[in-house]
Amino acid sequence: MSKNSLVKFSLIENALDSIDLGLDYFYDATKEFTPRKYKQCLINMFHGSELILKEILSRVNIILIFDKNSLFKICKAPMTPTEDESYKLKSIDINSLCDEVMKHYSEEFKGKLGIVKGLAKERNKIQHFAIEISPEILSKLLSSLYIEVFKPSFRIILSEIDYVNQYNSIIEKQIIGAEQKFLKIQGDTDNYLALCPSCENHSHFILYKGTGYPVETYCICCDYKNEDIDMSDYLDCPECGFPSLIFDKENNAGVCLNDKCYYGKEGGFVEMEPCENCDGFIIEGSCPECDKDVD
Ligand SMILES: [Zn+2]
Ligand SMILES: [Zn+2]
Ligand SMILES: [Zn+2]
Repeated sequence: MSKNSLVKFSLIENALDSIDLGLDYFYDATKEFTPRKYKQCLINMFHGSELILKEILSRVNIILIFDKNSLFKICKAPMTPTEDESYKLKSIDINSLCDEVMKHYSEEFKGKLGIVKGLAKERNKIQHFAIEISPEILSKLLSSLYIEVFKPSFRIILSEIDYVNQYNSIIEKQIIGAEQKFLKIQGDTDNYLALCPSCENHSHFILYKGTGYPVETYCICCDYKNEDIDMSDYLDCPECGFPSLIFDKENNAGVCLNDKCYYGKEGGFVEMEPCENCDGFIIEGSCPECDKDVD
């Protein structure tokens, strides 16, 4: 284990712990509004955003999270600080941190980090003065922070986990746990986790949103998603027999959204393509409509 990875490990653990704690306060505050809960939530969520941005930046190069003057003043070799030296180094401030993240992850965070700078102001106010902000506005800010900053960061972290050992699986579990807490805060308790047919991680959220069938799915590891699924989109799955199969146009394949089905657990995509002879589909080699006519 290198000295740099020690620094990295404590960063990500602290980031996920702060986010987890912040989400607990957030959930409590939505149940029963108290200024103290919102204050704790804001402080922890903000701290979590600072740490998680440092975490992903340190993956590019650990020296990026430190103030340059302090690197040159304290380190014998400023490009490769030792672990001992790193404890004495000054970190860059939140605005520089956002700018630096934008330089290295412009696609992932384009137009999204303004929220961190905005919350930095609220955090400073809350620490020094009596804060006056409506719970509705604060809730919106915190939800945006989760969606615009935490989610892309989680995705970067998850996409770099290429093998699962005990340590990685703890990180994965914590990120999935954060997503479940966030869904609960939004009132989406009606969901379950399945295999993502695209990246094949077990990070595909299936949301019912109070209806009797899944209406939306998304993977927190990759871009994969299905939106606005209509009841009429569902066809019978060849494996489980339930009307839980949808056609994914982009991948020219089927996806079964039954949580008990082999495909949703480990099978992934179902072989499926539009039928040329009817407006149905050929599923696993045969079209239920046309083949019925032949019989
Ligand atoms: Zn995926
Ligand atoms: Zn099925
Ligand atoms: Zn057909």
